[in-house]
Amino acid sequence: MIKKALITGITGQDGYYLTNFLLKKDYEVFGLNRNIDNPKTTAFKKKFKKVKLYECNIANYECINYLINSINPDEIYNLAAQPNSINSHKLQKETFNVNSGGVLNILETIKMSKKPIKFLQASSREVFGSGNVEYPQNEKTFYSPENPYAAAKAYSDYLVKIYRNQLNLFACSAILYNHESKMRGEGFVTKKISNSVANIKKGRIKKFYLGNFDAKRDWGHAKDYVECMWLILQKEIPEDYILATGKIHTVREFVELSFEEIGIKIRWEGTGLDEKGIDDKTGNVLVEVNPKYFRNEDTSKLYGDSTKAKKKLNWIPKIKFEDIVKEMVDVEFKK
Ligand code: GDP
Repeated sequence: MIKKALITGITGQDGYYLTNFLLKKDYEVFGLNRNIDNPKTTAFKKKFKKVKLYECNIANYECINYLINSINPDEIYNLAAQPNSINSHKLQKETFNVNSGGVLNILETIKMSKKPIKFLQASSREVFGSGNVEYPQNEKTFYSPENPYAAAKAYSDYLVKIYRNQLNLFACSAILYNHESKMRGEGFVTKKISNSVANIKKGRIKKFYLGNFDAKRDWGHAKDYVECMWLILQKEIPEDYILATGKIHTVREFVELSFEEIGIKIRWEGTGLDEKGIDDKTGNVLVEVNPKYFRNEDTSKLYGDSTKAKKKLNWIPKIKFEDIVKEMVDVEFKK
């Protein structure tokens, strides 16, 4: 029997990789997006002709309820979210309505349908906050969200646990650490660096600006992470999992490797706000600090422990940091 999967937020980075993965496994894929009239959706439709797309905001109960009941999927992957944690202070209502209310709408619909629909919630390492957390973080680490985005994601993780433990739904959270790819959205530092470095190589810009060069992240590849989302739903027992590489790298390393990709060796000069990344050969300044990109939470050690996913799902992220950088710079260069 052909399995049916419903993916919300399907036109984002993870939706792209998950759709690819599920189509290869012969799933019939249905996708939701809150606005199907934009260039991103047009590109998605062109690439994935088989996918049936619907316009629906998961914050709208009638809409999501109607679609889940008509599609009757075997699996639902909830990738839809107001994605910007920094802006979530300004977008509190939307963040809550989508990142928490939307999850509640889906769980309620599954419960009322009385069908064995499996549910995967894309959660975020932001639930752990940045201060005083143990590291690396695992499935038992205390939640300490620090912005409306993280609070909404945390609330949804508790909903998932409640619907699973008390109402017997097959519902799981994948707590995702940063995951990048050629499909990464604008605004993320990896995209900004790879795009800027490619533009320097093409002669379009002379230099660019960043915040803290020493900020660290646990960066994996989206392709590996969506595979794990699927594995989570194939287990007999529903559980939550941390998805992370367990390794941290600095923004500085990302910059150095990106420039290496276009044949430039970077030398660092100066300290603090005056630090600059300079082309070792020509002496040209290629990257500088702009304090407007600084964040408060950058001193923390946020990296995840995916031992549980390794043991129970036999999952380990395959794509290395160096290869992520290479892919991102190469793709930006070809644009
Ligand atoms: P997120 O903060 O984990 O959602 O991911 P980002 O890619 O936005 O940021 C990753 C890290 O890069 C954070 O610690 C940022 O403070 C740091 N960073 C340094 N310079 C920049 C910049 O210019 N833009 C962004 N987005 N992040 C930067």
